[in-house]
Amino acid sequence: MAILPILVTPNPILRKKAAFVPMVDNAIKKLLNDMIETMDAEDGIGLAAPQVGVSKQVLIMNVPANMTVNGEEIEGLEPTPEFYQMINPEIIWASEGLASCEEGCLSVPGQYAAVLRPEKVRVRYLNENGTPCETDFSRLQAACVQHEMDHLAGKLFVDYLSVMKRDMLLRKAQRVGR
Ligand SMILES: [Zn+2]
Repeated sequence: MAILPILVTPNPILRKKAAFVPMVDNAIKKLLNDMIETMDAEDGIGLAAPQVGVSKQVLIMNVPANMTVNGEEIEGLEPTPEFYQMINPEIIWASEGLASCEEGCLSVPGQYAAVLRPEKVRVRYLNENGTPCETDFSRLQAACVQHEMDHLAGKLFVDYLSVMKRDMLLRKAQRVGR
């Protein structure tokens, strides 16, 4: 395992559409393990492969399922997994209801903004063993998986803001650098 360097805006790899993964082989498993170590080292809750310079449809996330977008825990919910590894994820259903969440990104350092997204989504993907899965996400997990999937499409959370605000945050992020 290795901690990988994280790309920061305006690196062009962050703006590329990531390639479909034809097979979950050992190279993909090694990439996943390196991404896990990198996410842990950075205290992130999610990481997409383009952020570590690999333009492939791979992401990981580690978010408590009972956490709301405001960071409050909901008591009494059935414990569901916090940790997911996904290859070739696609959203196959999204709720009409939207939720706003304060988002940040390791590739846009030091910048945060509220982003409005569907409150619940159903995602189809391959897991780390290459097994097809479908999972429903809500609350903070839904926001996180949509944020990470945007990375695979070359999109950053600041793209949801006004052009003026987006450009301001991107300029500030470049100054912060890493
Ligand atoms: Zn991000």
